[in-house]
Amino acid sequence: MATPRIVILGAGYGGLMAATTLMRTLEDGEADVWLINKHDYHYMTTHLHEPAAGTAADEKVRVPLRDVLDFDRVHFRQGTVKRFDPAGRIVELEGGETIPFDYLVVALGSEPETFGIEGLREHAFAIRSLNSVRVIREHIEYMFSLYRARGEDPAYTTIVVGGAGFTGIEFVTELAERLPRLARAYDVPEEAVRLVNVEAAPTILPGFDPSLVAYAEAKLREKGIEVHTNTPIKACTPEGVVLQGDREIRAKTVVWTGGVRGNRIVEASGLEVIRGRVKVDPYLRAPGYDHVFVVGDSAVVFGEDGRPYPPTAQIAVQEGRAAALNLAAILRGTPMQPFKPNIQGTLASLGRWEGIGIVGKRRFYGLIASLLKRGSDLRYLWQLGGMPIVLKKIRYFFA
Ligand code: FAD
Ligand code: NAD
Repeated sequence: MATPRIVILGAGYGGLMAATTLMRTLEDGEADVWLINKHDYHYMTTHLHEPAAGTAADEKVRVPLRDVLDFDRVHFRQGTVKRFDPAGRIVELEGGETIPFDYLVVALGSEPETFGIEGLREHAFAIRSLNSVRVIREHIEYMFSLYRARGEDPAYTTIVVGGAGFTGIEFVTELAERLPRLARAYDVPEEAVRLVNVEAAPTILPGFDPSLVAYAEAKLREKGIEVHTNTPIKACTPEGVVLQGDREIRAKTVVWTGGVRGNRIVEASGLEVIRGRVKVDPYLRAPGYDHVFVVGDSAVVFGEDGRPYPPTAQIAVQEGRAAALNLAAILRGTPMQPFKPNIQGTLASLGRWEGIGIVGKRRFYGLIASLLKRGSDLRYLWQLGGMPIVLKKIRYFFA
């Protein structure tokens, strides 16, 4: 009998954890494991706001795949998935190459949800990948450089961030620490610099613990960030944003952090989705396709309270590992295990040495929260590639 082929799409949190788990779990000859990803590196999406703001090097978030995978045990193919056919068991890459599979793990992550808001796709940036955040960082610098050259128009040094969920808050607090340095470097008076965070809901971080929200609000004020709550963005133009009530904020830089939906490729490939995410069965398989597992932001799992778990790296990692162990169980004819997430808490940064978080039932503020977040990042790196990768990266986490 031919060796079964497992193909994993995406080397983010879910896909890479599935690949490393299969690499360590399967014996030689049990399966051929393939991993397909756009880049030959993994990026830590959870830190993308830092290179976006220009406060951390790209190297902090980039993990070369060869540092965590044995390419003799996992065949890596760099390429962009165009579509996959779950029934015909074929993946098609941009350029036309097709790769057949017996089992598939879909881990293609998410994309920005723009809710059909006019002009957002065309005129706003998104924190999505290492390549996308480099553009944000360079664009902000370029706009600062134009301030003097273009008649000292403050639109060049105004930055609007749409959405005050965790991504928006982590980005604005990080950027607030860099802007004074940027202003000095480009000869821009500090009073010409505006950093504006616009949120549709009545508070920032809607639904999060009220005392931690209050702490974050105070930090945003301290850092000079203008916060507009109860203020949905209605449109985005080359000149800035239009708010509900037709008020405008002129800004040459708009970054949209207003939410995410599953990767459109998943929907286009015929799987049933809710906001682009597949409602998987208890073993993380797509309905109707017992040989197709879906993990991370491409999947949605409902808790006992009937509410979906939010799309987080924490869950993606656990799902990636669980899907890999269930695949090993299928190959060995042993029972699969239903997926049970272990939610340890939430930790978010508010700049370099500040943060907020809940772990178990305990709330954490300031430096302690920031250190706990660094610890959890290093733990993730340890899970991926052990001590060598931790030693390679640790200096970036305490720079
Ligand atoms: P991803 O990690 O996004 O990986 C998807 C992979 O698929 C990528 O490698 C991508 O290149 C690849 N890919 C996509 N399309 C294709 C294609 N067509 N062909 C080939 N490859 C493709 N969550 C937390 O739990 N804690 C945090 O602190 C946290 N912080 C965050 C901070 C920011 C700024 C952001 C944006 C998100 C944060 N999140 C956090 C959420 C978390 O990053 C996501 O939930 C997590 O990345 C999802 O993992 P994933 O494997 O589904 O997708
Ligand atoms: P989100 O959906 O959590 O937040 C988006 C925010 O944008 C919401 O507050 C929403 O009210 C607001 N919004 C939507 N439409 C708007 C409009 N028209 N005008 C103004 N505001 C608008 O999205 P996110 O922050 O990108 O987070 C995505 C996922 O990643 C979440 O599950 C989040 O928990 C996770 N994440 C976690 C961390 C962390 O744990 N540190 C950090 C970043 C992201």
